[in-house]
Amino acid sequence: MRIFVVNCGSSSIKYQLFDMTDESVLAAGLLERVGTGEAVLHHTTGVPGETKTIDAQVPVPDHAAGLKIIIDALVDPAAGVLDSVDQIDGVGHRVVHGGQKITGSGRIDDSLITVIRENAALAPLHNPPNLSGIEAAILAIPNTPQVAVFDTAFLATLPPRAYRYAVPHDWYTEYHVRKYGFHGTSHRYVTLRAAELLGKPTEEVNLITVHLGNGCSMTAVAGGAAVDHSMGMTPLEGLAMGTRSGDIDPAIILHMLWRGMSGQQIDHALNKKSGLLGVSGVSNDMRDLLAAAADGNERAELAVDIFVYRIVKYIGAYYAILPGVDAVVLTGGIGENAVTVRRRICRPLAALGAVLDEQRNADTIGGASGPITTDESSLSVWVIPTNEELMIARDTQTIVAGQSAKS
Ligand code: ADP
Repeated sequence: MRIFVVNCGSSSIKYQLFDMTDESVLAAGLLERVGTGEAVLHHTTGVPGETKTIDAQVPVPDHAAGLKIIIDALVDPAAGVLDSVDQIDGVGHRVVHGGQKITGSGRIDDSLITVIRENAALAPLHNPPNLSGIEAAILAIPNTPQVAVFDTAFLATLPPRAYRYAVPHDWYTEYHVRKYGFHGTSHRYVTLRAAELLGKPTEEVNLITVHLGNGCSMTAVAGGAAVDHSMGMTPLEGLAMGTRSGDIDPAIILHMLWRGMSGQQIDHALNKKSGLLGVSGVSNDMRDLLAAAADGNERAELAVDIFVYRIVKYIGAYYAILPGVDAVVLTGGIGENAVTVRRRICRPLAALGAVLDEQRNADTIGGASGPITTDESSLSVWVIPTNEELMIARDTQTIVAGQSAKS
């Protein structure tokens, strides 16, 4: 079965074509600057070491035009991997917000499209482009089943004490103010993979999963299901991130409003100018920060310190609410590669029984999985690379085959 995974952002389309017989990637790419006269396509086919690429600059007014260009690349006789689009058996779409009702992935029909549209107010930057991608794919490949895989779905099992805020009740009933959570597809993927690697049934695994990319989030997993999560009603809550503040005193927003900033300016500052970038003034990229900190830049050092400290605090909190922890799982670009950051996270976790194995930490990079603590540790810390696209492809395959795809 061939599954085409599509992730439409406001100005980009990321995609991968999978052959599900061995879960290999037949083609992958990124179309950037959609909506402009100079969109850039980077399209790769073939196994590592023998890849063919198409790099093209093309006018792409909208997602429909973008998807057409991508499909043309897939069937291009020179670099193409398909004779015709009819060889695609299913299209899996990443959708950010499924709201309260969505607890798993689903085949796209009018009612699911309505749900995605209804939740656009909760994810104004994400659901509308996700929907444009779905509409474009239905137009381009009308006879192929389309499936939506929601970022929020894995977090649908949070109990009310975790997802409700202690605010007036009607904020919840009237305005849908609650924690929804994000990055669910990544947390679900590493949960399933951790269970496999730990040799336990998924329903028995207790984990703290830590996704550290440009956006960062953590999930407490009990019996394979999410019971708490660090992101909130929006992806701004929780850990300090590349450009997002994470947790702050909500009254800071009022303070800055009263100091003359507009709501829009505060929104921009907290989402785009805060986090690692805001504290350091250097960069939102962990590699730059580690290099600057090593050169003696104090603000870069403080940014990394805040980043690590917040993660350790959340691990402590989740450790306290879980009925035991089989593993802390680090993933995302930083979790998978940043040996120094992992060392700094593990050092204070010695209090909970995690003892870093320096050699394992140094070796587990660039896509490798495994524990980075010693075998004697009573709390083990693992690195497990995430693969959201593969998770979307697997769900799509399951649904196309006529089964339900909940975790
Ligand atoms: P996104 O959320 O955009 O998918 P990624 O998961 O790719 O992001 O993570 C990006 C982050 O990972 C960046 O901060 C980057 O600096 C960091 N990163 C990637 N490789 C390394 C590395 N070798 N050392 C430290 N940080 C790294």
